[in-house]
Amino acid sequence: MKHLITTSDFSIEEIEALYEDTRMFNDLQSNSYLSGKVVVTLFFENSTRTRSSFEIAAKRLGAQVVSLDVGTSSRSKGETIFDTVANLNAMKPDAIIIRHSECGLPGSLIDKVDCPILNAGDGMNAHPTQALLDLFTIIEHFDGKTQGKKIAIVGDVKTSRVAASNVKLLPRFGIEPIIVAPEHFQFENSDLRQVNSLSEVIDEVDVVMSLRTQLERHSQVYYNSLQEYAKDYCITSESFGDRDILLLHPGPVNRNVDISDEMLEDKRNKILEQVSNGVAVRMAILKKLIN
Ligand code: ASP
Repeated sequence: MKHLITTSDFSIEEIEALYEDTRMFNDLQSNSYLSGKVVVTLFFENSTRTRSSFEIAAKRLGAQVVSLDVGTSSRSKGETIFDTVANLNAMKPDAIIIRHSECGLPGSLIDKVDCPILNAGDGMNAHPTQALLDLFTIIEHFDGKTQGKKIAIVGDVKTSRVAASNVKLLPRFGIEPIIVAPEHFQFENSDLRQVNSLSEVIDEVDVVMSLRTQLERHSQVYYNSLQEYAKDYCITSESFGDRDILLLHPGPVNRNVDISDEMLEDKRNKILEQVSNGVAVRMAILKKLIN
């Protein structure tokens, strides 16, 4: 049985086949590929996009969705997550989608269940469906010609599971990630090129991915206010000029901290396209893993 814990669970050929299905699902219309199937979503961390995207994807495929309300589940009565999952598994769902703050937790469940586990984000570790939808958005924009392209990943890279998944996935398709961040937000011990300012690389990159500052994962205070950070790292029309660059962000965007109001209106920003692509990519993933 196949699970999706990190993007390395899928070969390049599997990802290419997945994107064929994604194109088929791109109008986000309903079908019956998963009719009669039941998908459980189990989110132990906040989520707006990923959870609704997975749930809409499953419903568009004709599956039923059971969303466990973690706050009122037996977790609050002291049950371990392993026991919760074992109990859910005994009800024979066709897939379990899980988000948790602990790195590696979704992967540790795969021996305990009889259905695919889909990692919807585990701590700072991985967010495979986000990276797969980011890559899909880039591939479609460049008509499949990704070899030699460069992407600046800007902001709080160190604690971002989106960045962690993208720096592993994108190079497999010939895209070089360049990290743009203050030293305290850069990766430690990385072979990637890391710079302090977007102006150093803006003339060579094809894509800019802005990230949110993940205050909830910081153990110390780096800035007295996010405005202080924004002075150097907010993506503005001045930083982009008239360059032909694609602007991405996994959401949620902190307006005028990550990206200026003006750039959020700019045609080069493909954030809502990422969101739509996210549903289609997740439809393709659910179809692949469940069928
Ligand atoms: N939505 C993304 C995540 O769950 C990015 C973020 O929260 O900033 O990791």
